[in-house]
Amino acid sequence: MAESMDGSMPDMMNLRTRLIHSGLARTDGAIVQPVFQTATYESRPGSDYDDIRYLRLNNSPNHADLAARLTAITGGAAAVVAASGMAAISTTLMALLKSGDHILAQDCLYGGTLSFLSEDAPAMGIAVDTIDGDACDAWVAKVRDSTRVFLVESLSNPTLRVADLESVVAFCRERGIISVIDNTFASPANFRPLEMGFDVELHSATKYLNGHSDLVAGCVISSREIIEKVIHKLNHLGATLDPHACFLLQRGMKTLALRVAQQNENASYLAQRLAGHPAVAHVNYPTLADHPHHERARRLFSGCGGVLSFDVVGGGVAAQEVMDRLQLAADAPSLGGVETLVSRPAVSSHAGQSPEQRAALGIGAGLVRVAVGIEAAEDLWADFARALDGARK
Ligand SMILES: *Cc1c(COP(=O)(O)O)cnc(C)c1O
Repeated sequence: MAESMDGSMPDMMNLRTRLIHSGLARTDGAIVQPVFQTATYESRPGSDYDDIRYLRLNNSPNHADLAARLTAITGGAAAVVAASGMAAISTTLMALLKSGDHILAQDCLYGGTLSFLSEDAPAMGIAVDTIDGDACDAWVAKVRDSTRVFLVESLSNPTLRVADLESVVAFCRERGIISVIDNTFASPANFRPLEMGFDVELHSATKYLNGHSDLVAGCVISSREIIEKVIHKLNHLGATLDPHACFLLQRGMKTLALRVAQQNENASYLAQRLAGHPAVAHVNYPTLADHPHHERARRLFSGCGGVLSFDVVGGGVAAQEVMDRLQLAADAPSLGGVETLVSRPAVSSHAGQSPEQRAALGIGAGLVRVAVGIEAAEDLWADFARALDGARK
């Protein structure tokens, strides 16, 4: 798989086929599954309470089709979709943790996840400790008898750090802790954590899985036992994905492997070109040899995804000017869509943190995050080169 680290197309033949053919059997011969826009279903003769089909219970044919596709592409035994990535994350944590329990969480997780852990979890009597995903020797000092869950991400935002994921799995196995990974940034096209031993895989399906920036959704993939617990909690909290959004996600997922292969290639190319530009001080992308987790990413992933970040010489003002000169790339949050987006983490995703906290994460005022789309790499580079050249005048 390592060949793809230079940006060439990874061998996704099997995944590509599974993405197209792993759904439910055809309804009335329809090649594309229709939207089942109905809140409730007629009871079948002899059915009991557990057989009730009702939209909030996440068991429409659109939901079942997505669950089948998600298990087929990740290697999990069962899956469920939710109304957003945050719904998937908070519901899963509430299903796995109760008052008196403790969770270990990586210190650079998605902002919404960190807010849930710092504000909502303690209010539910759940204790939280954050850890450096790279410092496995320090984890043992933080673990407790009550530790139930260890939560990490496959690639961190916006500096693309990769935690010591092999050690996370071993650490959890040894202690009977449930290992949970938010695999949004790598996507199942680049990394399949369940195959490597993680217990639970989560996604903001808003990003790569859907890939078209036109819905919010989340998903959880795991064992039958864990997914049953998550669905039970989801049914109480009510964060069900609407059938039309299910339909769009079913459609978007079919091209996941093609889109992500192009995004891997585009990001790798842009990272290399940006690193050679005099107006750029530093580039964060794991295919670059100077990235702190270059070797780990090469070993674990078949590609590094579409997000990279770079520091503009001259800091925040210069970075904003570069962003303002871009014509193809729009200044907007989110990632994983077919169109390239840029943002400045210091004034967007990480604006709530102090300059010191941001500095510790490698986020200066002049850092620009790029979430590349599937445009032609030369056109993207021409846009960035022109915007950066302007900075030198
Ligand atoms: C966007 C994102 C989320 C939250 O997902 P929503 O669909 O916006 O609720 C969670 N984790 C990561 C890594 C994300 O990028």
